[in-house]
Amino acid sequence: MTEVRCVHCLQTREGITGYAYGGKLEAEIKSKICHACWQEWKGMSIKIINEYRLDLNDPNANKTLIDQMRAFLNMPDTEGQPK
Ligand SMILES: [Zn+2]
Repeated sequence: MTEVRCVHCLQTREGITGYAYGGKLEAEIKSKICHACWQEWKGMSIKIINEYRLDLNDPNANKTLIDQMRAFLNMPDTEGQPK
């Protein structure tokens, strides 16, 4: 089992297995977030989707969710994209 130094709980714990949004973002998440915190975010994401009434087929809604995820997981966007 791969271990990861998690930026959310600041512990070295079991990494994420399975799907995590895909692509570069998935690689970043898997290198920075542990399994337990990912489960925590998954629970939180459902609340956020309901609260903001996000339609995940909408790219803007998807971006809102990713922004929320980065804030929640303490994983700021390091690619320097302007807000
Ligand atoms: Zn963690």
